[in-house]
Amino acid sequence: MRNELYIDGRWVKPVRGGSTEVINPATEEVIQTIAAATEEDVDLAVKAARRAFDKDGWPKLSGAQRATYLRSIADGIRARQAEIARLEVLDNGKPFPEADWDVADAAGCFDFYAGLAEQLDSNPEEGIALADDRFTSKAVREPIGVAGAIIPWNYPLLMAAWKVAPALAAGCTIVLKPAEQTSLTALELAAIADDVGLPAGVLNILTGAGSVAGQAIIDHKGVDKLAFTGSGPIGSKIMAAAARDIKRVSLELGGKSPFVVFEDADIDEAVEWIMFGIFWNQGQVCSATSRVLVHEEIYQRLLARLVEETNKITIGNGLDDGVLLGPLVSKRQYEQVLAAIEGARKAGATVACGGTRPEGFDKGYYLRPAVLVDVPLDSDAWVEEIFGPVVCVRPFRTEEEAIELANDSRFGLAAAVMSKDDVRAERVAAAFRAGIVWINCSQPTFTEAPWGGYKESGIGRELGRWGLENYLETKQITKYITDKPW
Ligand code: NAD
Repeated sequence: MRNELYIDGRWVKPVRGGSTEVINPATEEVIQTIAAATEEDVDLAVKAARRAFDKDGWPKLSGAQRATYLRSIADGIRARQAEIARLEVLDNGKPFPEADWDVADAAGCFDFYAGLAEQLDSNPEEGIALADDRFTSKAVREPIGVAGAIIPWNYPLLMAAWKVAPALAAGCTIVLKPAEQTSLTALELAAIADDVGLPAGVLNILTGAGSVAGQAIIDHKGVDKLAFTGSGPIGSKIMAAAARDIKRVSLELGGKSPFVVFEDADIDEAVEWIMFGIFWNQGQVCSATSRVLVHEEIYQRLLARLVEETNKITIGNGLDDGVLLGPLVSKRQYEQVLAAIEGARKAGATVACGGTRPEGFDKGYYLRPAVLVDVPLDSDAWVEEIFGPVVCVRPFRTEEEAIELANDSRFGLAAAVMSKDDVRAERVAAAFRAGIVWINCSQPTFTEAPWGGYKESGIGRELGRWGLENYLETKQITKYITDKPW
């Protein structure tokens, strides 16, 4: 039972002794109590991270040495994969196979960034050709310093890995705050880091409220870089805090991603990807393709198949075999999604299926996945992120219209297109104003490929070599190499 904070290589009680209850969304029962950090704890964690960075020499280790720690963490996660995945289900509600996949992916993320840490050794500097031959110049990469990372509840361990692995690979030290709804697996990550002997202060994990512990991290002068995944309004606060102190910042915010299906697409395949794109993880996915645009020629047939298949989805406790859709993460999220569906109805949309509590469930934040049609273009349901298993489906006539509808959003995280005509699919992919574009699929995510949004969906890219860049500075070193006078 982990009800302490992991600061400076030790488990400690929060200074003010606060705690929060952890609720299993499948049963609404309290399963554990965790510590609630305050400003004082954050200060201790940042000071430890500063010391580990400024004095103890974490950034001075070779990339290969840091890679050894990262690989040990990856092995430590894999060694306890099923146990951690089970904990994720209890905490977040997602079906076990999804959690198991996430945990394996988190381990893979540490392995991947171990490889990039080693590459930092082989490419330590880049020579720069100057027009003036009295000087030589080179650019070297250095870690930014102390990173403050704040993550959401939809992929608890994986989001921690997306921040911790590249930060440590780059040579940064880090203070991480998981979401208050889902902190358990981040605490296991701290335990694994401790087991593998990660030097004290390099990784600090503090549980607690966003408005208290999160706010203290973003306001702390000892933090050099803020990395955030979550909602737009909090993203704005984080950017404002970064602006005040000129901290580096990367943001991965929400989306309202479109999925355009052309008339030559295979309807069954399209339905499968549409469902994967919006019902995976109960639709609590920032890149969920929640607006589906279907060519009018196949609209009615596709809609009928989608409704039929959606009604077949097995809902239940994520620990039970065969469950495809678990409960939503929290009471608050459940009520917000229900309110969004009600709002859509009031705005004139039709609920083609779902949107209510499934029969036979008295407890738990369960919701039948919903398909909405005739959703007005100016309604919240079409415009705002719902972050639940709710998809809006709409017909279109021409490619131009589809592109215009797809791009008509203040978000630009992801977009998908499905067509057998490769030239058309590539053309539409090029026209999307989004950071991640899928052709003939939706949602596959690869540690090697850049992840992040256009417009209000965020700033910067995670994953791949871009994720490492988030934690690196570039230094120019120029030498005067001649006796010639100026
Ligand atoms: P949120 O943005 O409120 O919380 C995300 C993280 O930020 C949590 O760790 C939280 O504790 C922290 N936080 C909150 N207030 C803070 C503050 N003042 N300073 C620093 N950190 C703070 O998101 P939420 O409440 O979990 O979900 C609300 C909505 O956000 C969802 O309905 C969904 O639309 C969106 N969301 C998006 C993603 C994503 O991956 N893009 C993930 C989760 C939620």
